[in-house]
Amino acid sequence: MENETIEHTIKALEKNHFEVYFARTTTEAQEIFFTEIFERLQPTAISWGDSETMKATGVLNALENHPECVLIRTFQEGYSRTQKTYWRRQALQADLFLTGTNALTKQGQLVNVDMVGNRVAGITFGPKNVVLFIGVNKITENLEKAMERIRTVAAPRNAIRHPHLHTPCQTTASCMNCQSSDRLCNTWTITEKSFPPKRIKIILINESLGL
Ligand code: SF4
Repeated sequence: MENETIEHTIKALEKNHFEVYFARTTTEAQEIFFTEIFERLQPTAISWGDSETMKATGVLNALENHPECVLIRTFQEGYSRTQKTYWRRQALQADLFLTGTNALTKQGQLVNVDMVGNRVAGITFGPKNVVLFIGVNKITENLEKAMERIRTVAAPRNAIRHPHLHTPCQTTASCMNCQSSDRLCNTWTITEKSFPPKRIKIILINESLGL
């Protein structure tokens, strides 16, 4: 990704009231998270939505070394659907919610699609603060390109990594706008601004990460 595009996107995000940090690597992203955000907020309850980029930074493992924090786990192996739903509702009351985004426009908008809705819900309302870990590969020219990226890249790849679900894009690797009851694309969100200002913090990472 060209530096000019990255700088343009950061300025647009800041204009849209997001708090923005730039990291060269995932390691640096973790350092920024702890020194610039975690230390200042001193959150008690922390939860997260599924994100390959967030996982790549290692923040979740590092948070295990903070016994002063309560980690609200919503993806535990062996959880029933009822248990997952219960904890995902609790996650919306967290002090801090971590995840990524499916796409980010040069105009500073976040674009996401979600199956269950807990990830986009956490970004939108509930947790006091949100931190999004985003690789520069998620930057798109505009809203139309962001949605195209999600339909042609992110959503089919997401379906493929969930083999227990059954959607046509798992074999076509492209969106068929399916009617499957396992459809992963149920709720679209466009986050135009952070409200309140700086509630949503973005760590933009100068690597190709996530789906
Ligand atoms: S709408 Fe269906 S086919 Fe299209 S990406 Fe989502 S799950 Fe796959």
